[in-house]
Amino acid sequence: MHSLSAIFQPILAVLRGDEDVLPSFSHGVHPQEHRAQTENLPIQRAPFGKTYILPLGQHIGAPAKPVVAVGDKVERGTLIAQAGAFVSTALHAPVTGWVKAIEPRRIPSGQLQNAIEIEADPYASQRLPTKAAIPWQNLSLDDFIQHIQNAGIVGLGGAAFPSHVKYALPDGVKIKTIIINGAECEPYLTNDHRLMLERPEATLQGAEIIRQKLQADAVIIGVELNKAHALDALNQVIKAHHYQHITAKALRVKYPQGAEKMLIKSLLDVEVPVNHIPRDIGVLVNNVGTAVAIADYFEFGLPLIERIVTVSGSGVSRPANLIVPIGTRVRELLDFCGGLTDNIKEIVMGGPMMGTPITSLDVPILKGSSGILAFTAVETHKPKEYACIHCGRCLDACPHFLNPARLAKLAKYQAYGEMAKLHAMDCVECGACTFACPSGIPIAHLIRVGKHEIRAKK
Ligand code: SF4
Ligand code: SF4
Repeated sequence: MHSLSAIFQPILAVLRGDEDVLPSFSHGVHPQEHRAQTENLPIQRAPFGKTYILPLGQHIGAPAKPVVAVGDKVERGTLIAQAGAFVSTALHAPVTGWVKAIEPRRIPSGQLQNAIEIEADPYASQRLPTKAAIPWQNLSLDDFIQHIQNAGIVGLGGAAFPSHVKYALPDGVKIKTIIINGAECEPYLTNDHRLMLERPEATLQGAEIIRQKLQADAVIIGVELNKAHALDALNQVIKAHHYQHITAKALRVKYPQGAEKMLIKSLLDVEVPVNHIPRDIGVLVNNVGTAVAIADYFEFGLPLIERIVTVSGSGVSRPANLIVPIGTRVRELLDFCGGLTDNIKEIVMGGPMMGTPITSLDVPILKGSSGILAFTAVETHKPKEYACIHCGRCLDACPHFLNPARLAKLAKYQAYGEMAKLHAMDCVECGACTFACPSGIPIAHLIRVGKHEIRAKK
């Protein structure tokens, strides 16, 4: 039972000025939220473009293998590449059209990657073929896993880890609690916020499907309190549909609240031990977008061919939350949003803390692209770098209790062995240390480079 007091207690806590009573993890930082530009904008569909680029390795794991050839006609939602291994997933046509090319294309990281390019049929309605709901209740866990892989569903929070891999549990492992990540702690991004607010039924339906298939005891949806309306919408549906195993909980607004291990600490007050993953302690974390994608797949037969993207930043004329076909060029999205202002300094894919600066507007939106942020000098002022003053603020910021100042210094001196001994690989590259540093030292960047070298040496 979900009493009204459970719903309103977190809101009252904030009104009383004691948000600190809400669950959270230790350390972390409080960047400005910058959500006002888009948090009240309903999700709308972006218009269809002319061409779409589908990189074959846009998820973690082996690249997908094309099952189409240049010149083939494809319908919206049909398979164009199958999973290349177990840790891999499928790709589907985001639009009806023709396969124009299968060759390397520039991806947001700046690298070239093999991709399928589709030219949209300008006369197609782009309406999805109607499909019957898939009776997920009758599927075995193995069949469920196969369906999720064939649907191309990945973690939509940014990492694009194939979701079915998380559901394939080793013998003897039981998931007790599923956490649905609605924290959305990166500044500017409001796509998860709007999704929970506008589609709470689908969020809960997806969460319940995962829970039943994994026979988990409970689902907790963690939502930062700056999305109180979304939390309220979820709680109303939980109550109306009598979801007895699901609760939605308010979290303190703090970065990086949405990092997997931080969320587990906040909601369950347990820590995932070093060198372990959540399932080792009986927990599985999925993003809200992933839960909705699963609900849509089983309800409408819709594979993952589109996602919600926040377009924001002071350099965007008309910020928006958009439903975007995967493969859409960034340029087309920005054009739909009224184009860029004159004084653009940087365009970032993802959030400002962990996103990737892009150097071309012709790179595509990927399954893991949660936002396109265009920054002017207002946001990109980079402080001059000074020497470390040993203030300890980066230590206080690090949610993993690392010594970022020391790790950054070791990275500068290329002492990668020492870095590894100081648990550099536990760094989740959240950027909280860089944000906290008064000396303007790019700590997280230095550690990222060091981690890359450690991995290369291994
Ligand atoms: S050291 Fe890594 S995990 Fe710690 S605050 Fe910096 S980027 Fe985040
Ligand atoms: S926050 Fe910056 S100045 Fe302070 S200890 Fe860390 S690296 Fe040094």
